[in-house]
Amino acid sequence: MKFVHQSFASRVVFESGSRHLVRQELEQLGVGRALVLSTPEQRDGAEEVAAALGTLAVGVHAEARMHVPVATARAAAEVVRQTKADVTVAVGGGSTIGLAKAVSLLEGTPSLAIPTTYAGSEMTPLWGMTEDGQKRTGRDDVVVPRVVLYDPELTTSLPGRVTLTSAMNSVAHAAEALYAPDRSPITASMAEAAVTSALRALPDVMARPDDLQVRGDLLYAAWLGGTCLGTATMGLHHKLCHTLGGALDLPHADTHTVVLPYALAYNFADAPAPVELLGRVLDTVEPLSALRTWIADLGGPVSLGELGMDSADVARIVDLAMTASYPNPSALERERLTRLLELAIAGESPELLYGS
Ligand code: NAD
Repeated sequence: MKFVHQSFASRVVFESGSRHLVRQELEQLGVGRALVLSTPEQRDGAEEVAAALGTLAVGVHAEARMHVPVATARAAAEVVRQTKADVTVAVGGGSTIGLAKAVSLLEGTPSLAIPTTYAGSEMTPLWGMTEDGQKRTGRDDVVVPRVVLYDPELTTSLPGRVTLTSAMNSVAHAAEALYAPDRSPITASMAEAAVTSALRALPDVMARPDDLQVRGDLLYAAWLGGTCLGTATMGLHHKLCHTLGGALDLPHADTHTVVLPYALAYNFADAPAPVELLGRVLDTVEPLSALRTWIADLGGPVSLGELGMDSADVARIVDLAMTASYPNPSALERERLTRLLELAIAGESPELLYGS
């Protein structure tokens, strides 16, 4: 056995109602002036956290936007300077946590994250910012939130479709970690637990969105999935989703949900572990088609066509996916990538990629 395992200095508190611990957690960090961040839609949740912070809160900045536009990041950094905040508290999903990360990058300000979706950004050193339609991404330890408060109570308001697709985003982190070149035995164990917990919990969460027990199981899976994303290098699936989001503006979590079975089929001959795991969890011999049916039954998207992509876009996406460099178990071949995208646009069986 031979491996390198990289983890980050981050404290995780997982408990229903943990948002109420925010003040004591900040006091332990030794910071005293907190700016609370959220999207405009989640202002109420941010105000509640600011109230729990009492005199430690210097304000609420409810201006987070999807994909962290540079102007949004600079405006938040300016508010941090004006209010002399020495920490940000991000209450929200990947967009709000992404804004806190951008502020860490621009100002060096540490953050505490209170995630309200399953995207997992709070566990990674990855940051992204968008300018002139181009998303720049990078890796920097400074952006890793110092404390994460996982509170299942905050996820009960997440609409069904976002619940499903952001949880599938997390499943995708874990699935690709299973064949990442820098995976370690501990990452592989977390990935298996993430996929298993997420797929077991999701149907119950969709049926009973207010059930804190199953919401907690799904949030636990998201924590594990996010940790996998933070420690292992992602391959074709993440690259394709990133390319489709950047070039065609396809919605982030929906794209992950649709592409995953096709990317896993593409890599199956060289890296069967994720497909085999899905087969065990879903108890089927054709797990990728079964996964699509399962997603469709839960009300999720299963073709890139329904997300707005058509065949005219394929050549451009294949070009972009071929030029970027990233590790992937199977070689990148123009013809197979074209076939992958055509099958995904039409929503045809991913198993058709086997042996092609
Ligand atoms: P999001 O943060 O954009 O949230 C989607 C919508 O749901 C927003 O309107 C938000 O206000 C709302 N919302 C969030 N939680 C809610 C709740 N509990 N109740 C009601 N409404 C709620 O979505 P996301 O999928 O979490 O994040 C996507 C972004 O995160 C993308 O930009 C993606 O690139 C990024 N991301 C980054 C990483 C990383 O490691 N850097 C990882 C995953 C995702």
